[in-house]
Amino acid sequence: MSQKNNTTNIAIIGAGASGLFCALCLAKKGFLVTVFEKNNKPGKKLAATGNGKCNISNTNISLANYFSSNPSFSKYALEHFGFEKFSKFCDEIGLNLTTNENGKTYPSSLQASSVVEILYQEALFYGAIFHFSTYIEDLTFEKKAKIIAHNTQYEFDKVILATGSIAMEKLGGTNSGYELAKKLGHSIIEPFPSLVQLTSHNKEIHFLSGVKTEVAITIFINNQRSKSIEGDILFTNYGVSGNAILDLSREANQAMLEGSYVDIVVDLFPQNDKNKLLALLEKKKKALPNRPKEFLLLSLINSKLIDFIFKKAKIDPNKITTDHLDKKDLQSLTYALKSIKIEIDGSKGFENAEVVAGGVNVDEIDPKTMESKLQSGLYFCGEVIDVDGDCGGYNLHWAWASGYILASSMS
Ligand SMILES: Cc1cc2nc3c(=O)[nH]c(=O)nc-3n(C[C@H](O)[C@H](O)[C@H](O)COP(=O)(O)OP(=O)(O)OC[C@H]3O[C@@H](n4cnc5c(N)ncnc54)[C@H](O)[C@@H]3O)c2cc1C
Repeated sequence: MSQKNNTTNIAIIGAGASGLFCALCLAKKGFLVTVFEKNNKPGKKLAATGNGKCNISNTNISLANYFSSNPSFSKYALEHFGFEKFSKFCDEIGLNLTTNENGKTYPSSLQASSVVEILYQEALFYGAIFHFSTYIEDLTFEKKAKIIAHNTQYEFDKVILATGSIAMEKLGGTNSGYELAKKLGHSIIEPFPSLVQLTSHNKEIHFLSGVKTEVAITIFINNQRSKSIEGDILFTNYGVSGNAILDLSREANQAMLEGSYVDIVVDLFPQNDKNKLLALLEKKKKALPNRPKEFLLLSLINSKLIDFIFKKAKIDPNKITTDHLDKKDLQSLTYALKSIKIEIDGSKGFENAEVVAGGVNVDEIDPKTMESKLQSGLYFCGEVIDVDGDCGGYNLHWAWASGYILASSMS
């Protein structure tokens, strides 16, 4: 237990990733910290991150991995609390890390629950006080900040909104942070789901449900090529999922929000250009005369995709064997393998999104202190702010960096 040496009384609303981290940093500095959490325990969403393994950060933290209506807002926090500083901080609190070849970093235990436990126990050790099952309904500022929960009023010198976003209500996602900020004069950049599965009415795709494969995907907005990405895709009975899809979902959802049409084109053979792939099919046809035509694709692609590709290529169903296929058929197959077009008509929404884009307008927040420019004594950290990141540990890193910068600036 630490000796309190700072009489500034600080409330943090939300004991999620950013609230826990910020509570620990402030309590370590000797502030009086009280955390209010509507769930009955800390870090419910944090405990579910990275499929329970917690992709806690990334060795390649860069501004380019973050999005906001003002993209340079997070520059200061990311430069002053990059991966190295985070890693050093983790050493100090006994949180061991392991990094894979892509820079994705996890707790060595590969257990998100161990991250929650360390942050919570360390914050307690340094004297932070926690109130669970306590939903903050209102927040006003007069001489002091007044927060209201269950008809009880508490007074503080400063209040930090670490309420997160509306992503995944079942894990604590709520729009209450936006509502509290709005009441205090802040504007909200319209939230929309990011890192989320995309839906398509293409019935033929639904029949491929369960097929997961490595591909390249190009996204087209109003028929204009926008961005290409490599990774995995999972076909589902509502559309598409998988890492590559989650990574493209922000761009797709933003475009749909603006009324644009979105298509994706899936290339099952990103490593082979059309000529190489055609040569491969020709070689296989030569090596396998008079065999069922499906043998041409067997072992090349997931077997559940074979009939789909023959249909896509419009190969005459009366052509039964490899001998029946002519050069034009092989060209059509090549095209079908490299360009499966899927119309996107929506996403699986906030309730399935890992992250929300949009939030409290960053032009109203000081990037070096995270203090509101509109209400002195009011601060923000984490996903409630209009900053979101790519898949790969970037969103949790934002929770750590924004919480750390806020705490370091406070005196
Ligand atoms: C399934 C899933 C997997 C993810 N995996 C990863 C990953 O591996 N790596 C990564 O970088 N990111 C991941 N993310 C994103 C990451 O979890 C979030 O970006 C991060 O948790 C945001 O931290 P936060 O503190 O802003 O919000 P949260 O962690 O959501 O915490 C906000 C807290 O505030 C509480 N709260 C809200 N309003 C009130 C109120 N009025 N009164 C009291 N309490 C309130 C909520 O109950 C919640 O506990 C994942 C997200 C999900 C949903």
